[in-house]
Order: sequence, then structure tokens, then C-alpha cells
Amino acid sequence: MTQKLIIADHIITGINADGSPAIMDDTAILVEGSRISEIGPTADMRRAYSGAEEIGGRGRVAMPGLINAHHHVGLTPFQLGARDQPLELWFPERLAMRDVDPRLDTLYSAFEMLASGVTTVQHLHSRAPGDTEAVLSRADAIIGAYTDLGMRASYSFAFRDQCRMVYAADEDFIATLPAELRGPVWTYLSSFGLPLEEQIAVFHSLQDRWADQDLIGIQLAPSNLHWLSDKALESAARLADESGAPMHMHLLETPYQAEYARRRTGGSALAHVDSFGLLGPDLTVGHGVWMTDDDLELVADRGVCLCHNCSSNLRLKSGRADLNGFLSSGVPVALGIDEAGLNDDRDMLQEMRLAMTLHRPAGHDAPFPSASDIFRMATEHGAATTPFGQSIGKIARGRFADVVLLNWNALTYPYQDPAIPLVDVILRRAKPASVETVLVGGAIVYHQGTFPAVDKAAVLDQLSQHLRRQKAPAEVEQRNLGYALLDPVRDFYNDWL
Ligand SMILES: [Zn+2]
Repeated sequence: MTQKLIIADHIITGINADGSPAIMDDTAILVEGSRISEIGPTADMRRAYSGAEEIGGRGRVAMPGLINAHHHVGLTPFQLGARDQPLELWFPERLAMRDVDPRLDTLYSAFEMLASGVTTVQHLHSRAPGDTEAVLSRADAIIGAYTDLGMRASYSFAFRDQCRMVYAADEDFIATLPAELRGPVWTYLSSFGLPLEEQIAVFHSLQDRWADQDLIGIQLAPSNLHWLSDKALESAARLADESGAPMHMHLLETPYQAEYARRRTGGSALAHVDSFGLLGPDLTVGHGVWMTDDDLELVADRGVCLCHNCSSNLRLKSGRADLNGFLSSGVPVALGIDEAGLNDDRDMLQEMRLAMTLHRPAGHDAPFPSASDIFRMATEHGAATTPFGQSIGKIARGRFADVVLLNWNALTYPYQDPAIPLVDVILRRAKPASVETVLVGGAIVYHQGTFPAVDKAAVLDQLSQHLRRQKAPAEVEQRNLGYALLDPVRDFYNDWL
């Protein structure tokens, strides 16, 4: 078995129960195969394992790999032609997006994630056209891209069986449209019409195919209340029970979704989902921006995890989410970049900084997240939302060696007062340029701007060539259809709030 010693001046192994960071100085991590087998003083470890390959060294700080707990696609919707819109209008807006090869697409955002220290991604695949075979082959291309790079991924293909354009039955919405739009909208929606039984079959196939691969976990993603009939909610609960797979579900992202829940159930989305037995430690609620205090109490009682998607909430005008309330409830809160961050990229370090900074309300005594709170969201709590759970998220014996080495000189040059705590400096100042080396399962997957397993320049070149070609007539038609739907969709929600 290969042995590696990861050496750093300081190793942040995780966040203690009291909220303080756990930091070891002049320490080395012994990696055997894919896991951490020992952590100890550098001098002793060098003597004991003199044959081990050394990684890092003086001037480095090591931390657990970051977890992007909510991700969907590669190139951003904005890059592919969809402007930022309030979420409900963004659904038709997204018809403007161009088609991209799923492998190249996945590699594109995986490059950005790894370069900002993300070692595990929660990939929630929202929609895929075609039959079961087409959906599975797309999933294989995406998962294959992650495994080729050596990145850890939790993959899910989202369940949805209704309300594909607005928060109402497809046929009811189509009936409100001008006659000339009805046919094209029906054709478009039908292209994403895989029946629920086949969506379940996709989940089982994916589990079978990837069961033995350390880097890959398969999850369930009941997509959101409006997208799921009660029958689909029942199926998701049964599958979670049978398979033990964790689930990630968008809920209460916008005020319109809260109103939808009220209209459908007479109460809260969380209470309705709870009536199917779905609320528990295996469920993560994505967004949850419009949860009430009662909802949050229910989430805390049931041991549900939350995922805060800070940039996305801002860009899609969903609201800010009460992160301070989430944190004070004691619920594990993960952090997800969702479709894209503030800079229209997947820079996890920046997403952490945004979450830390956005939730600082006025008033000397008003609560705000500490650097350690955010660090734990992006590591240990993110891990809790994946099938990898306690095998990632901290640097500890027995866990996978998913480790990020920061070059402290690059991070602090020309000066950083040493009185400022280490984790605070990382949260406020770390950028991808200070990420030097990233290991996943003990393998170096990123080092000084390069990805040993995949030629990034060649991938970007292929993407560029592919997307520079003239738009196909079908792409143009679909974009025009999306634009034509903006007003009818806006009208649909006229009296909702
Ligand atoms: Zn999402």
C-alpha cells in the first residue's frame, strides 16, 4: 500500500463541539491507500515513515476538503444564455440554455470546484431528456467525468412527476396559453416525461453500477413539493427506507413555494412532507428560505439537515434565508453554491465568505456566523448531507484523505498580522490562488493549477469549439419559446402574494 506524508505548519482537523477550531501545529498526516492512518508530530512521523512520499512542507496549512453540498450543472445557465430571473421566471428563461456535452460540462465546473478546495460535490441532476437509457447514459458521462478527475461525488437524479413549468398541473397551465404556444410547450414538457417508475429504476441502476466505487455515492432527490405528487412522495420515503440512501430536497425556496404549499396542503410544506415520514437525519432541505419558526422547530426535532445556498438565493431573488436562526437551532447546516456563485463560478472559498458576510445584521449584539461556523458548514456539516457522512469532512484517523493544502505565503503576502486567528484569515482572504494541492482519497487531483488526470486546456478548447458553432435551429426555437413563456408565467402568479 502506498504511503504518503502530508506535512504542514498547521493542520485544521475540524471544528470542536464548542465551536472552536481544532488545530495541530508542526504536524504530519500519514496516508495509506485512500485513508488517513496516523496524525502526529512531523519529526516523529518522518523518522517512523522515512520511505513515504512527502507532500506539502513548511509554509503550508492543511484543512479538510470542502464540500459543495448543492450543485446541478457545469457551465452556468448565465454562460449558456439564461439571465438571472426570479426563480419562477427562471424556469422558462432556462429554455434559452444551449446543449452541452455532459462530460465536458461536468469537467468545466469540477475544475473550478477542485481549484477552490472542493473535494466532494453533491450533484443533484435536475432534469434529463429522453428515456431511461438516455438518462442513464447522461448520468454515466457525468459520474465518469468526476471519477476521471478523481473527485468525490454524491449523485442523484431528481424525482419529479408534475408541475413542470409552473406550480400547477401542466395541462392547466397549457390551457391558459395562447393557442400557438400550446403545442410547442406540450412537446417540450413531454421531452422530460420519464414516468415515476422509470425514475425509480434509474435510481436502482445507478446504485448497482456505482456500488463498489469509493469516490461515488448515489442519493435520492425528491426534487420539491410542487414537482412531486403524493404518490411520488410516498415512493421517495419507501425507497429511502429500503435503500438507506440519504435524500436532498429543495423546499420553500421562494414565497411562491410557501403559498403553493398552503394552497395544496392547507399548511406548511415541511409538515406535509413530514406526514410521509420523510423528515429525519437522512434528509437535507435545500434553501428553506421561507421556513417559519414552526418549520425550523420541526426540522430540529426530526434531526433534518439544511443546506444554505447563499449566492443562488440572492441571484434568483428568493430571499436571504435566516442563517443565524438555522445555526442557533442547532440543525446541521451545509453550504451549496447551487447553479453558480456571485462571480458566476464555483469558488467555494468565495461562497463561504459571502455567507459569513451577508448574515451580519445591524446591532452590536445581533447574532452573526463566526468563521468557524462557516468552516464547519463547508466541511463536517456538508459531509453529513452526503452518503459519505463521517468518512469525510474532518482530518482524522480512518477517514478518507481528502485534504487541501494552502500556500500560506501566497495567502498572506505581503503581510497578515499573526494575531488574527487562522480560520478567520482563511475565511476572509483565501482564494483559489492560495490553494496549492488538493488530495482526494489520498491521490493528488490538483496541484499548482494543473489536474494530473485530465488536460484542462484541451477540455476548455473542446467546449469553446463546440459552443462557438452556430446555434442549431432547435436551440433557437427553444430559446424563443422560453422568452414567449415569460409573460404567461408571470401572469400565472399575479395574485399569489
Ligand atoms: Zn438547487
